[in-house]
Amino acid sequence: MTCRSSEELNQLVLEAKGYTKFGKVADYIPALKKADPDDLSVAIYHPDGTCLSAGDVKLKITLQSISKVLALALALLDCGEEEVFCKIGYEPTGDPFNSIVKLEISKPAKPLNPMINAGALVVTHMIKGVSADDRFNRLLQFVRKLAGNPLITFCEEVAVSEFETAHLNRSLCYFMKQHGIINEDVEELIDLYTKQCAIEMNCLDLARIGLVLALDGVEPLTNKRLIPTQIARICKTLMVTCGMYNASGEFAVRVGIPAKSGVSGGIMGAVPNRFGIGIFGAALDEKGNSIAGLKILEMLSKRYDLSMF
Ligand code: GLU
Repeated sequence: MTCRSSEELNQLVLEAKGYTKFGKVADYIPALKKADPDDLSVAIYHPDGTCLSAGDVKLKITLQSISKVLALALALLDCGEEEVFCKIGYEPTGDPFNSIVKLEISKPAKPLNPMINAGALVVTHMIKGVSADDRFNRLLQFVRKLAGNPLITFCEEVAVSEFETAHLNRSLCYFMKQHGIINEDVEELIDLYTKQCAIEMNCLDLARIGLVLALDGVEPLTNKRLIPTQIARICKTLMVTCGMYNASGEFAVRVGIPAKSGVSGGIMGAVPNRFGIGIFGAALDEKGNSIAGLKILEMLSKRYDLSMF
């Protein structure tokens, strides 16, 4: 059984809105401070092409960390599983997403997984192209294909704002360059990574990408395979183990679906073989996940038995 009525989804949004006052909008990227903490929207995309939504679904958000899943899929297509996981591990971490601690103590130096910043920067480094612009365009085209929306682009203001303040990410890059994990110009990589994080879409697009992952890489309306099964599975596995920051374990217990969140308040969910979910709610909890978004997912999971465990 699945949620089939917009009215019901509207009701869930209304209920979850009560929690936004307990959260806080991300402010370490100055441009993100402008978000309204009360905004909340959700979309569910089914394999038959029907889409339910509630809230202001036209609102666009930047993907931030959600982009790490899509960049990982492209890097795996470009370089193959062996090469990618030779440079990055598979293991979750209880540390915050931008922590440098484990990078220094792991021998040989290797980011723990592709969902923390150190690992994500290496993933972006691996995306192929003849120039930095070409690499970004390839990623953007890939994202457009997954969402079935050729109009998706990136928000220049957010990209510039993050580029100007990404000192911690620069330090991760310099550390990794010193240890031979990356070998490109750090400013070029930060430029590419901040544009990647600033790719912008609404929760309908997000739900549609979630659906492709839920169906192991197949776009159901055209029946076209957009990602090989194994790559979709790797993405979903890492979403389960590392997708919700250092709250991934609790999320697995309470909701039990592959999902990835970002500091702009987005969450992309992929309910295996059932549907894709896109959520936007800018107010975050202390771990960096959309506080009302989590509530919606918990309620949906209980009501429709979404847990895969
Ligand atoms: N652009 C953000 C950063 O690297 C992404 C963080 C996130 O959404 O978790 O700091």
